[in-house]
Parts: sequence; C-alpha cells; structure tokens
Amino acid sequence: MSLYRLIHDRLTSAPDAPILEIPGGPLLTGAQVLDRTSRYAGFLSGLGVRQGDRVAVQVDKSPEALMVYLACLRAGFVFMPMNAAYQDDEVDFLLGDAEPAAFIHRPETEATSRAIAQRRGVRHVYSLGEEGQGSFCREAETAAAAGIAECREHDLAAMLYTSGTTGKPKGAMLTHRNLATNALALVEAWRFTADDVLLHALPIFHTHGLFVASHCALLSGARMLWLPRFERERVMALLPEATVFMGVPTYYTRLLAGADFGREACRRIRLFVSGSAPLLAETHREFEARTGHVILERYGMTETGMNTGNPYEGPRVPGSVGRPFAGVEVRVVGEDGAALPQGEVGEIQVKGPNVMAGYWRLPEKTAAEFTSDGFFKTGDVGRLDARGYLSIVGRAKDMIISGGFNVYPKEIEALIDDLPGVVESAVVGVPHPDFGEVGVAIVKADGSLQEAEILAALKARLANYKVPKRVFFADELPRNAMGKIQKNLLRDQHQRLYNPLPLQSFM
Ligand code: AMP
Repeated sequence: MSLYRLIHDRLTSAPDAPILEIPGGPLLTGAQVLDRTSRYAGFLSGLGVRQGDRVAVQVDKSPEALMVYLACLRAGFVFMPMNAAYQDDEVDFLLGDAEPAAFIHRPETEATSRAIAQRRGVRHVYSLGEEGQGSFCREAETAAAAGIAECREHDLAAMLYTSGTTGKPKGAMLTHRNLATNALALVEAWRFTADDVLLHALPIFHTHGLFVASHCALLSGARMLWLPRFERERVMALLPEATVFMGVPTYYTRLLAGADFGREACRRIRLFVSGSAPLLAETHREFEARTGHVILERYGMTETGMNTGNPYEGPRVPGSVGRPFAGVEVRVVGEDGAALPQGEVGEIQVKGPNVMAGYWRLPEKTAAEFTSDGFFKTGDVGRLDARGYLSIVGRAKDMIISGGFNVYPKEIEALIDDLPGVVESAVVGVPHPDFGEVGVAIVKADGSLQEAEILAALKARLANYKVPKRVFFADELPRNAMGKIQKNLLRDQHQRLYNPLPLQSFM
C-alpha cells in the first residue's frame, strides 16, 4: 500500500478543490500541490537521489516543506524531518547517523549547515525558508515532473528521530504501510470528509503535525488553514472558519487563558483533538464548560503512530486516552511480561500495522524494545478499565522507587492539580541516602498555598511513601516544543537535595 498513491488518487479526484490555504496568502488546489510535488521529486531524482535514500530536512514550517515531504513519498525517498530548534551538535549527530543523500536547511543557518553537511559527506545541500525562499525552490520549481515510484508496503517512507530525553536520539523507521494504515484509521475514526476545514498550527517535524494532522486532511480532501506556528491571536482569528482543530495540551490552556475564547470562537468546529502530552482533567472540564465541546484525547508516539483515542461517538473520558484504533492491539503487562487483569498498573505494549519497522541501524536496541510475540514496549505505564479505555499513569522511567515501593507521579500530580489555586504540577524522583529515591513536587500555583498545606492535603489521601518529601513552587514548568514537561530538567535541578556535593567539592 503506497501512502503516496492514496493521497494522489484523493487529490486528483477533485483537482480544483482547495487543499492548502495560507491565511491572507495563496490558496493551493489539489492539482497545484501535486504539480509542485512532482517537480520537487523530479528535481531530487535528477540530482541522483535514489529510492531508499534519506532526505534530511531542517526547515521552518511552510507549504513547500510539506510538498518536499510529499515529493519524498512520491519518489520513494525516506523523509527525515528535524526539529528546527536543534543545535549544531544535534544536527551533526543526525546527519552522521542517517547519512542522507540530501539536506535542506533554513537559509538563516547557511554557513553552519553547509559546513556540517560537508563534514558528514552529504552530497546535496539546499536552503528553504518560511516564505519558500532559498535555493531549493529556485531550482526545483522548474524541474521536470517525476513519475510515481513503485513503493512496497514495507519500504521506508520516513524516519523520525525520537525526542528521548536521555541517551542518543534513535531513528524510528516508518514504512508506507505504517503511515497509510494509521492515516486511514484516523480518517475513519474522526469522520474526516472533503467538507472539513482543519486549522493546522502544529509543527511538521513531528508525528502529530506531519502525519496525524496533514494525512487526515490529504486523505479526505479537506482544506487546511495553514499557520506557521501556534500564535494565539492568529488561531483565535481563524478558529471560527475551522471544523477541526488539533493541538498539544498547551494550545488548549493558552486558548482558555483569554476571556475571548468561548462558544462563539468554536461555532463551526465539530472536533477538537489533543495529544502528545497528557491533557489535564481540569483543562478538559474547563474546556467543556466554556465551549460546550469535549476534547477528544488520543495517545501515540513516534515509533507507533496513533495507538488509542477516545471515541468520536460515545463518552470521552477526562484523564483517559480511550480505546485502540482499528487494527491496533494494546495490552498492559506486569514485570514478568504477562498481561495484567483490568485495573492493574503496568507497562503499555502495542502491536499492529502502525508499529515501526525498528530503529535505524540499531538491531539490538530494536530487538530489546519488542517482545517475542511482536509487541512494542512503549515505556509508558498505564491501566485498562472495564470498558477497555486506557489511562496513562506515567513513563516507566518517570516511576519513582522509594524505599522499594513504586510511586507513579501521575497519581500524585492529579491530586495536587485538584487543590484550589494550583495550575499544574510535576513530581520527580531525586536520589535519597535512605530511601534510594524520593519524590519532590514542583508546583505552579497562584501563591495562595504553602508547601505544608499541599503536603497535609496529600497525607490525608495517600500512603505515606507516595507523599513527596518537598514541594517547590515555580512560575512555569519547563516544556519542550511538543508541550511535554521536561522532567529531566526538573530532576537535574533537584538532584542534590538530599545528596549534597561531596565534601571535597567545597574545598
Ligand atoms: P513522541 O514520540 O514525541 O510523540 O512522544 C510519545 C510519548 O508522548 C508517549 O510515549 C507518551 O509518553 C506521551 N504521550 C503522547 N500522547 C499522550 C497522551 N494523550 N497522554 C499522555 N501522554 C502522551
């Protein structure tokens, strides 16, 4: 199943339909998108880029960047997007690891990008800016169109490096089948049609904006209102035109932060989707109270695409990520690897046509992340309820083991978040001479609460070993581009709370 074929057939069936609209700028029809895509593919093929070669792209979001992606699908190249925020060392590592045949970078980083690419032996280097400026479009726009490559379903379509907060990034190899089956499942689950207008404000270097959002629109022929990034004012201005909006939880809290956001702004919307990080139950409820809409939360990851989602029809449960999408199997296992009874907490494992082919050039790491019966170990910890709804309790590596007892931060964070005056919280484990590890909470609140009050409230509700030893207040919790709280930074900050520096360091 070639993903490109599906998109191509959809867009050629209504060639004049508007597909990609830049608010206040041009509007591209399906035929125009395909024309540019085929030229970009022709240009890269003309340079000598071959099927299976990686094309690394570190650019700002633009329609042209999306068409570079489609060009790669068309020609059978492996699209490799990179976060525009990556620094030189990160780019250097990724180019060295992936050995791409071509690298497209931001015009602003011309000198360093070229130097890194040259050092890493990348043959073809071009620039592409947010407005389509730069050497890539200048040369590719007029290239001869390429045909459509024959891609088999297990051929690689894209490679995304995972945002792992520890260790070296790993390239998740995604096949045409992975992307196509997941996209079709989402179009169906979320009832996408050509009448939809998707407000696209997510970055496209990540699964969420590149695959989830763009594929739903491209495979249904819906129109995308294309924003280079989430800017509250622009989103507010365009929301009344949209029927679907997808975001990370931060987008929703930012929308709710202004009194201007309410029913009127959402008058045409039929679906709000959230994912990539946990949506606080409180945000979920406040959103419903303000807009009448219940956000549909789904759960996925770079390696697997989308695994589960709350239903389109039926109850969308705050704090839950719903049931598996069509074709996906989900189980929760204990430490011995055996599936746990419903309600018990363990590691979430998934299997299905959505799960990646493996990590690029890391066969041992790949083997370690799969079970013998073919399930991928997500590293997320959760539980299934009686209806088969999944809740995520935390990341396995976030789990705190205090005096031999397992503590799941999510359980404690949920209680802290419910206290009046608390905006949000994060609980992390820090080394402790006696318990091995203890939890500390970092809380964003309105100033009305003291540490002792939070601790007293938790002691009344939790076993003592679960109660954090300390509470610290912060104006903001650190987040990455996808809205995930960077617990590693919080852990680093509080590393030495109970294990002070060795004596000699003071001398
Ligand atoms: P990434 O590979 O960057 O997409 O990150 C995937 C990870 O994000 C998952 O393994 C989860 O830990 C987390 N994640 C994604 N969606 C959700 C969600 N709805 N609720 C909680 N965590 C999520």
